[in-house]
Amino acid sequence: MISTTADMVIIGSGFSGLIAAQEARRRGIDVLIVDKGFYPGGRLATKDLGNLRFNYGAPYFPAVKSNSFRAFVENMKNENRPLPFCIKRGKGISSQINVMRDICSYLAEGTNVMQQVHVTEVLRQDHQILIKSGSKKIASAKQLVISTPAPQAVCLLSNLETEMINEIENVEFSQCWTIFLGFPGVLDIPNSCHFRDNNGGLSSVVHEIRNSATGYLYCLTLRMSHEWSSLRTDWSKEQILKFILSDTLRSFLPKTDELPEIMFCHRWKYSQVIKSLSKQCPIISRDQTVGVAGDWTLGHSLEDAFMSGKKIIQELIRY
Ligand SMILES: Cc1cc2nc3c(=O)[nH]c(=O)nc-3n(C[C@H](O)[C@H](O)[C@H](O)COP(=O)(O)OP(=O)(O)OC[C@H]3O[C@@H](n4cnc5c(N)ncnc54)[C@H](O)[C@@H]3O)c2cc1C
Repeated sequence: MISTTADMVIIGSGFSGLIAAQEARRRGIDVLIVDKGFYPGGRLATKDLGNLRFNYGAPYFPAVKSNSFRAFVENMKNENRPLPFCIKRGKGISSQINVMRDICSYLAEGTNVMQQVHVTEVLRQDHQILIKSGSKKIASAKQLVISTPAPQAVCLLSNLETEMINEIENVEFSQCWTIFLGFPGVLDIPNSCHFRDNNGGLSSVVHEIRNSATGYLYCLTLRMSHEWSSLRTDWSKEQILKFILSDTLRSFLPKTDELPEIMFCHRWKYSQVIKSLSKQCPIISRDQTVGVAGDWTLGHSLEDAFMSGKKIIQELIRY
């Protein structure tokens, strides 16, 4: 038995999927979003560790290119909505991020969203598209938008759209180990977000001060470079943390003997787009029932994710 039916199912509650859902709803389309994560947001991510929070997704956009995204940002600011990212100026970065994923929770308001559902298969059945998680039928719809990173989209498209798959397989993502460290007290950290340690491992640091039950904690989110991360995909989290403590941290904070109170790490298998979809590749199927969205369909940034969410709905409803 199928639990839900909708005009359109969107797989992925990242930025692009949520913008697509807003765009569809604005046009009166009944939408259901399905996502495997705990919260909406995808790569706009926040991790709770005890009573601390680490923001470990996209912290900034270098420059706004489109009027549509500029209007969205201005509107968010005017309404006092949570804007996790800030415009990068020179080398510095504002550390005023509160809860990065809040913007996505806000965008998800009023939309039917099912989290913690890992879609494993998508099929056509009786002029409908059937969404499955393992053996369970989750939903059926007339139209489908897949807004996952490209490699995951390829798997989901395998029963539906072989023509698009060949092009999507050429899309490439970087990998990124991200490390969360919580220090008691305040650290003497350079006022800059970009670093390169001697091994070329560290690519950026976001630092935020949090008020915990026991006092202030200095939260560092370290991002390791693609080169460094892709050489260590088979390392365990323990190995990564051991290396960071003995090597990276010492070169980055030479004067600090203190050990972090909180340590955790996460590997982004699909972090940032290195090679996006060819401009010639269609983003919807020939029968106009299935489309793809996501930063990788247009470029590599949050703004591209935003624009792709708008574009896919315009393309799908054109017919
Ligand atoms: C560490 C890091 C730093 C970044 N820094 C910047 C930056 O400074 N500036 C910038 O512009 N961009 C940056 N980015 C890129 C930016 O985060 C992305 O462009 C944007 O968030 C992509 O949104 P999206 O909706 O396309 O994809 P995603 O956010 O990846 O959303 C895809 C969603 O699909 C879900 N999903 C995947 N497979 C399945 C499945 N089988 N079933 C159900 N759900 C599924 C995932 O859970 C996820 O929620 C950064 C990314 C990372 C990881």
